[in-house]
Amino acid sequence: MTARSARARPARPAAATRGPRTPAVTVQQAWLAMLAALNEPAWIVDGQSLRLLGINPSALALLKLADDAVERLDALALAGSPEDLAFWDDVKVGRGTHLRSESVAMTADGRLLQVQRCIAPLVCGTTSATHFLVTVHDRTDMLRAQTERETLVAELQATLESTADGILVTDLAGRIRAFNRRFAQLWGMPEDLLSERHDDAVFDWMRRSVTDSRGYQRRLAGLQESALMRASESLLLLSGQTLEMVTQPQVSRGRPIGRVWAFRDRTELVSADRRIEALTTTDSLTGLPNRRHLGDALDLALAHARRDSSTFALLLLDMDRFKQINDSLGLATGDRVLVEVADRIKTCMRQGDLLARIGGDQFALLVHKADLRGAEAAAARVLEATGRAHTLEGTQFTLTCSVGIALYPADGTEGGTLLRHAETAMQRAKQGGRAAYRFHQPTQDADLRERMRLDHAMRQALAANRFRLAYQPQVDIASGAIVGAEALIRWRDPELGDVSPARFIPVAEESGFIIAIGDWVLGQAVRQAANWRSRGMPLPVAVNVSALQFQQADFVDRVAEALRSADLPGALLELELTESILVRDASDALQRLHSLALLGARLAIDDFGTGYSSLAYLKRFPIEKLKIDRSFIRGVPGDGSDAGIVHAIIQMARALNLKVIAEGVETEAQRQYLAREGCDLLQGFLFAPALDPFSFEERLNGQSANRRRLRVVGDD
Ligand code: C2E
Ligand code: MG
Ligand code: MG
Repeated sequence: MTARSARARPARPAAATRGPRTPAVTVQQAWLAMLAALNEPAWIVDGQSLRLLGINPSALALLKLADDAVERLDALALAGSPEDLAFWDDVKVGRGTHLRSESVAMTADGRLLQVQRCIAPLVCGTTSATHFLVTVHDRTDMLRAQTERETLVAELQATLESTADGILVTDLAGRIRAFNRRFAQLWGMPEDLLSERHDDAVFDWMRRSVTDSRGYQRRLAGLQESALMRASESLLLLSGQTLEMVTQPQVSRGRPIGRVWAFRDRTELVSADRRIEALTTTDSLTGLPNRRHLGDALDLALAHARRDSSTFALLLLDMDRFKQINDSLGLATGDRVLVEVADRIKTCMRQGDLLARIGGDQFALLVHKADLRGAEAAAARVLEATGRAHTLEGTQFTLTCSVGIALYPADGTEGGTLLRHAETAMQRAKQGGRAAYRFHQPTQDADLRERMRLDHAMRQALAANRFRLAYQPQVDIASGAIVGAEALIRWRDPELGDVSPARFIPVAEESGFIIAIGDWVLGQAVRQAANWRSRGMPLPVAVNVSALQFQQADFVDRVAEALRSADLPGALLELELTESILVRDASDALQRLHSLALLGARLAIDDFGTGYSSLAYLKRFPIEKLKIDRSFIRGVPGDGSDAGIVHAIIQMARALNLKVIAEGVETEAQRQYLAREGCDLLQGFLFAPALDPFSFEERLNGQSANRRRLRVVGDD
């Protein structure tokens, strides 16, 4: 035997070795020769003694055994698992035949090997197995490599999962080799699509998810053809998401083996970008161009108009009393109203015109190729469209706007000038009673400086006692008798001439000077009422109260003091409040109104119908009278919508047991209509304008004289 041959047990007792060769010996020798020839580590076990018949060099090398191992060890010593031990127990009682097991083998120097062990019987002729061949297949390295690979894969997968990007790895043929969960998530892929790893289905899904799927398909094909191509692009998905895709070849030892695709969600970034871009030129609420955009558009319009010597008009629109809507209905509703108004104005535009929202409730309309006539027509259309009644949350209200118009080139040759002139014209429309349009008037460019001048002059006027009160009769609609008076302030200034309250009251409200003016008016009106009363003309006098004035903490005290110092019963003082006052801080207002009612003062709501009317507060507040706004009276009886509103107000007042007075009654037709509708009182030029106290007394006395005369005649 060579060194490489199997180590066989030493010769048996002399008798046996020396005797004639038995077939058994021949067979065993053949087995030992086979054992030596086996590449695989192996040994042969005697099934009865479990001792080794032989062991081959591979086994000795693997298990690091010395040559004498064959004598020292038996099957049990070389067994690698409980299963193995049990097998040999079975063998001893003639039962065990085969065993294939995954087990371990321990080397002489104490190392554990992972082996696959096969035990097979060695059969000779018909005799049952006397010996067993044990082969072990060392899988230690293989298993370690496998574990390492598995660990690596797991680590790679964990790395994939830990990136924020969606990752997909394909081979050169486009078959999926790996992906992470984020990938599936970004593409919104159903679980089953991925669990099947059906590559075509996944790509099909991706193709169908992008908006431009054909272009995407072409690009995919292109990427496949040039395996080394890198690409980066944005994909817009049908879901509205924007994915940024970066793909690059996966190269191993200089050769492309596949492709890595990374997808990143850019939706927010993109929309934020878009929003920022849009924000700079559009108004976020209405989506209309904003002031900045208007500036650019104006420049463009100027350039065009200069080039072809054409004209255009700039209309500046400001909602009337919009603050009331915001104050009473809340900003959200205010926003809805603005969107609605924008939509309505759009219907008045022709192609090429531009509508911009340039401030809270301000819009600008650029009317191309418009002259004075065209601008006027556009303004009229806008007033008509915006003036139609709104219905919101079950409440109907009208909201008008005031329009200022500036024409190119007559009113300015630069954008800024045109805007400023349109603005002052708009202010004049407001002062003239709102719901109207005005053209720029070169002489009346009353801007901030003008308002400051007015404010200053007002303060001087009060100090110099230049204000007067005029009294406009309020008459019973049935009898025509004067039953009250509204005190209206008048100001004749030595420099400015007659200044209308519609012009200076807003300025005073803005500067806060209204509080001083209001105080003066209250004192004066109460003294006048006391004077008339003391002279046998007990007539209630109505005083207009501004919001700012009403909100003063000591307002009720001031009213009480005015009444007390003039010794006037509260019942002869009426306070005219606007709707916005009541809704603004309702609980505070309610308390104040009750205190005023306790003083005996009467409360009326002025300009009724122009603000927000809530039945709730009408019921809750101790109000006696509604004053229908002049703007509705103007339209009756001809205008259906005005007539409808007037009708509704009167019906509502009836139901709530409130008196109704119509203001601004100018015609007999209006009076008759109002009488038919059941209106209680009227006030207006039809009967009398606001009169100085002396003229008012004359009217009053004339009336009593008339009545006396009538009574005398009647007595006859
Ligand atoms: P207002 O309280 O609604 O007063 C009614 C306005 O309508 C008055 O204008 C009156 O002269 C006018 N008017 C009366 N009858 C007719 C008519 O038949 N046709 C037309 N077209 N107009 C008529 P005025 O005096 O210029 O006052 C305008 C506004 O200024 C008042 O509206 C009121 O809001 C405010 N105001 C006037 N005096 C005072 C005051 O003493 N204090 C406060 N806070 N505001 C005042
Ligand atoms: Mg009034
Ligand atoms: Mg009024």
